[in-house]
Amino acid sequence: MRPIVAIVGRPNVGKSTLVNRIAQTGEAIVHESRGVTRDRTYHQADWNGIEFDLVDTGGIEPLKSDDAFSGPIRDQALAAALEADAILFIVDGKTGATEEDESVARMLKRASVPLFLVVNKLDNPAREQEVLWEFYSLGVGEPHPISALHGHGTGDLLDELVAALPERSEPDPETESSDDLVSIAIIGRPNAGKSSLFNKILGSERSIVSDIAGTTRDAIDTILERDGRTYRLVDTAGIRKKSTAVEDIEYYSQVRGLRAIDRSDIALLVVDSSIGMTEQDQKVANLAIERGCALIILLNKWDLLEDDRARDQVIDTVKRRLTLAPWAQLLRISALTGRSIEKIWPLIDAAERARTMRISTSTLNRFVTSLREFGHTVIDGKRRLRMHYATQVATKPPTFSFFVNHPDLATDSFRRYVENRLREQFDLAGTPIRLHFRKKN
Ligand code: GDP
Ligand code: GDP
Repeated sequence: MRPIVAIVGRPNVGKSTLVNRIAQTGEAIVHESRGVTRDRTYHQADWNGIEFDLVDTGGIEPLKSDDAFSGPIRDQALAAALEADAILFIVDGKTGATEEDESVARMLKRASVPLFLVVNKLDNPAREQEVLWEFYSLGVGEPHPISALHGHGTGDLLDELVAALPERSEPDPETESSDDLVSIAIIGRPNAGKSSLFNKILGSERSIVSDIAGTTRDAIDTILERDGRTYRLVDTAGIRKKSTAVEDIEYYSQVRGLRAIDRSDIALLVVDSSIGMTEQDQKVANLAIERGCALIILLNKWDLLEDDRARDQVIDTVKRRLTLAPWAQLLRISALTGRSIEKIWPLIDAAERARTMRISTSTLNRFVTSLREFGHTVIDGKRRLRMHYATQVATKPPTFSFFVNHPDLATDSFRRYVENRLREQFDLAGTPIRLHFRKKN
């Protein structure tokens, strides 16, 4: 798992210029960087052998609208604070600190991860000092002068950044090394029924092996065995003992959910059916997909829905909000009555099988041949997309490289087409998959 570095800042301060300078922009990476949700991009970066992902969180929708200083940039900052391991807060040295910068700074102070205030566009190092002083007033520490355009200062910044990134935790040989161990996160909004579900699951399982300390400070994982398989319920401490600071519950439940996703193979997203699938549920689902987690949607409190109309309505909103994951399995449950709780397990096993599936190159190439015979392709002027062959380059989630003559012709709709055909052909329900299109003449 690579640490995540979020880049936050107003439009035009030079975020993309900096990303381009830092990230290796090979062809494969350009494709990976598109992100699934489109409101953020991931770029793989490497500095002195330390790898991390740069995330540009532009355009994130508000998480809470009743906030005092709401706005798209502030929401970017919040989203970054939620999921990053370090934050680069970029300001423009030519324009000076603005009100918007101040509001972002106030937001970022809440983040519990290393924060770097980066003053960009200082193209003339000799004149840095006279500009820098005013940025101390933002109250987020020492400003780091750089010119993303020319590269001054970026090396020093990266040195400091990678030194501040968390070290990769050594895998625990007792548990992590075991390939059969399936890690499961129970996520969802406060009150969706996560702890009820957790207790129901544990109540019906006799063979809880132990509560073990997780890799993060406050996480307690629960290991349980079932039909000879071992499962880990990740970060259940937060489920059992809730924060008392009311205003922070939503915020911390999101932080916790995201951290849990990071350590899990499968996310069980608990949705409160009496409310329906909310935008926030959708966002968390998308983040799980982005991080390569399998996803199962549990429509909880199904017992509260009185008639067919209400039931249909819930299913409708779920379908509408799950456009990125039409492959996710849905299950109607009641953590209160125990309805369908047992049925979660076969879905977990199926999702795990799909997520670890390996398709041989010869099978994939028969698939490519069948696609070619179907004749659906992309044509742009004189150029015509041709697929030569394909190979699976990774599992967890399954990742495929398609070698084609013109990777830029692989449009979104073509990608969707290929993904749908793959899913028809192979049993990939429950897991995200990744497709790369690489050049081969
Ligand atoms: P973003 O909206 O934050 O991603 O900003 P961009 O990276 O698109 O940059 C906005 C503008 O600022 C572009 O015209 C860049 O060329 C310019 N820019 C970015 N970094 C620097 C820099 O270090 N010095 C100067 N002079 N201009 C820069
Ligand atoms: P959490 O905040 O996500 O952990 O949610 P809780 O498990 O604490 O549940 C919140 C409230 O919803 C509690 O009052 C539960 O009793 C109730 N609840 C949970 N699951 C169900 C369910 O399936 N049906 C009904 N009717 N209530 C439920």
